[in-house]
Formats: sequence, structure tokens, C-alpha cells
Amino acid sequence: MTNETWAEARQELIKRVGKNNYVTWIEPLKLAILADGVARFEVPTIFFGDWVQRNYADHIRNQLASAGAVVDRVEFALGSPSAETPVASFKPAPRPVRSRSASDDDLPGAPLDPRFTFDRFVVGKSNELAHAASRRVAEGGPVTFNPLFLYGGVGLGKTHLMHAIAHELQARRPELRVLYLSAEQFMYRFVQALRERQIMDFKEMFRSVDVLMVDDVQFVAGKDSTQEEFFHTFNALVDQNKQIVISADRAPGEIKDLEDRIKSRLQCGLVVDLHPTDYELRLGILQQKVDFYRNQYRGLVIADGVLEFLAHRITTNVRVLEGALTRLFAFASLVGREITLELTQDCLADILRSSDRKLTIEEIQRKVAEHYNIRLSDMIGPKRLRNIARPRQVAMYLSKQLTPRSLPEIGRRFGGRDHTTIMHGVRKIEELMAIDSQLADDLQLLRRLLQG
Ligand code: ADP
Ligand code: MG
Repeated sequence: MTNETWAEARQELIKRVGKNNYVTWIEPLKLAILADGVARFEVPTIFFGDWVQRNYADHIRNQLASAGAVVDRVEFALGSPSAETPVASFKPAPRPVRSRSASDDDLPGAPLDPRFTFDRFVVGKSNELAHAASRRVAEGGPVTFNPLFLYGGVGLGKTHLMHAIAHELQARRPELRVLYLSAEQFMYRFVQALRERQIMDFKEMFRSVDVLMVDDVQFVAGKDSTQEEFFHTFNALVDQNKQIVISADRAPGEIKDLEDRIKSRLQCGLVVDLHPTDYELRLGILQQKVDFYRNQYRGLVIADGVLEFLAHRITTNVRVLEGALTRLFAFASLVGREITLELTQDCLADILRSSDRKLTIEEIQRKVAEHYNIRLSDMIGPKRLRNIARPRQVAMYLSKQLTPRSLPEIGRRFGGRDHTTIMHGVRKIEELMAIDSQLADDLQLLRRLLQG
């Protein structure tokens, strides 16, 4: 029965994760236990368990549920007879350190990732300001800027920095009540409090913290009562001179459907962005990870040039970069081979392919707006002034040239414009390019910036 359930779940998993991933990561799993809400699998190595836990535990849980086995914990244990303890478990997270200091009360913080410390954050040009500002907040001294607003694209280290602040504050100022959570969790708590008529408790609890950190705040945009509550919480804390740290995927002014008064509040403190990584930073991050793994696992051999190759080729974001390295280690330790350039290309073919076409319309709009010094919101807005319309057409043209998106798709990303508008824009730029050398230069530069 148990094995049938797993067989059924596996059929679905093939479709969900793709044949390649399935063969590499799911097939080798041996179901050891499926009972009492726990599914435990035997895995060949710690790396393997880690990897599957991070990437597939959710899928596995969902598919088991669809096959009729509701589990709330998916665990991975080494497949030797003595390995009774799981090497990785999903939900609750491994070693959950709660983001709360005064330990006898019940702050609803999210678990902090023990790896997200300042020690393990590699500083480069693109993130040095964000890093310095975070360090300052982590000293726990008098509040000098409020809030600290960190923004940037996905996987650039926002969450890492926020957790690092929380870890550091816990070490230096254990008496402070530090609360870290995502905006989504904030909303969830709020809705729950409304439902259970405990809104006063909710307010009191959030107003009693010393440091509040809310991750991915763009999530509250458009959710009216939640943003309202967030606004009040925010103001109450600022009034008491309590530190607030916020992150988002874009600048306050650029978050759609966020109330203006909230935007302007968010802009009051220090707003810093994390830029896309450059080659040196990526290489630094890879080297740090390798050093770390070397200490843990002897016998890891990496050929010259492999890290450089990865830093050069995987430019999307740090999460993808790390994932690639983890998979590489897992794979190499499974098959017991040295990590060569060839093995790297084999093992990471899919990641390398997808980072070839990594460019998004968003990034193009952002870069073009930056270049012409206009606001990102004007890219998608209705203004027809030449000094805005032209850059917008440039962005349309580049979107057509550099991404696989269709005209209607591009239109959607430019504020819901019709595909004929996009086509017109693209043609316009093609025409102008031939006679306007300044524009041709601009395009060349932008293309180079975008393609890294
Ligand atoms: P974001 O919240 O901006 O989407 P995260 O903070 O979750 O990104 O970072 C994604 C992954 O990349 C994490 O595993 C994080 O540790 C790692 N990372 C990002 N930037 C750095 C850095 N500068 N040094 C070391 N690791 C980094
Ligand atoms: Mg994040």
C-alpha cells in the first residue's frame, strides 16, 4: 500500500520536475517510512539529501498528498543501517532558530536560516552599501535611519542580509525583541487575527518589538486592509524610535498598487539597492562556498577553471549560482569523480541553457529607464512625451530582440499595450537607428550592458 502510494506519486513527479531531474534526484530515493504524517527517504549522501530537501520536498509532499498520503514532514536520512537520524527534514526547517530574543513570549517570527550570517556574505561593489547599512543596523545602536529599505532583484541577498542582522542582534543585544517575517506572513497573521477576533493582541504584539523586519513588502501591495495595518504598525514603531528594516524587489516608488502615503513613508529612511552581481563577486561567492564544503567534505577535487566558468556563465542570480554548485558537488560525490569542466557542462546543461536566455523584459525596462534617466513607472505608464516615449520604444525594441517573448506578451508587460503598438515601436527604432547615430550608440551600449 505504502509503496503503491509512492509509485503513484512518482508518476506525477516525473511530470512536475521533468525527466532529467526525476532520474537524477527522485528515482534514487528509497522510501523508508510513510506513516504518522512523516515520509522518510533514504539518500546516498548528505549532499543529495540537502539538495532534494531544498528543491523537491514540496513537490514530493504535494504528490504524496494527491496520492492519498497526507504528510507534514518529508525527511531524508543516509541510507546506511545506522542512520536513524534524518540528515535533512522539511517542515519544520532544519535547526529552526526563531527570530525572537526574549524567549518566553510568542513572537510569530519566521525561522532564521543559520547560514545567512555576515560571515558568509561576500561583499562586492554591487552590494557594499546595502551591506554597510545592514551592519550599522546590526550594531543595535541608536536608530540613525528609519526604515532601512533594501531592494533589488531576486537572489541578490536581501533575505540573507536581513537574517544576518537578526543573528547579529541576537548575539549582541539579546534583550532586544527582534522580529523577522515576510510580508506574506504578516498578512497571514493579520487575517488570522481578524478571523479569531484577536486584533488587539495582534496590534499589541507588533507594536512591542524593538526591531521589525519585513521581507518582500511588495507582497502587500493591492491588499488594502493589510497595507493599512502595515502602515499603522510601521508608524507606531517609528514613533517609538524602533528600528525597521524592509525589503522589496523594487524601489518604494515603483511598487504598483502601494498607497502613496506608504511609499513616501518607506522613502523616509535609507533606501539602498542591491545591484546585479558582477563577475568578481560571483567568483568570490563560489570560492567561499567551495572552501566551506572542503572543510566539511574531504576529497572534493575541482579542476582549474571550473569556478571561473560558472561565474562567467551563470549571471542570473546568486541562488541559481549556489544551486548549480550544490548540484555539482552532489553529482560528483555520487559518481565519485573529480569535478572537471566537462562534468560541469554535463551536469548543469539545463541551468547553463536557461541562463543563456535569462534576460527579462523587466530588466530591459529597468536598464533603459536608468540609461535615459526616466522613471521605471513611465516605461509602462501612458505618457506620450517624446523624452519618455522614445526610451519606451527602445525598451520595446530590445525586448523583441533580446527575449523570446511575443509582441502581445511584450505589450502586456508595457502596461497592457496592444501588440500593434509594440510593432510600431520596434519599427520606429529600426528606422531611426539608420539615421541617428546617437541612438545607434545608445542601443549598442544598452545591448552590451544587458547581455553582460
Ligand atoms: P533575495 O532575498 O534577494 O531574493 P537571498 O538573500 O535569498 O536573495 O539570496 C539567495 C541566495 O544567494 C542565498 O542562499 C544567499 O545566501 C546567497 N547570496 C546572495 N548574495 C550573497 C553574497 N553576497 N554572499 C554570499 N551569498 C549570497
Ligand atoms: Mg528574499
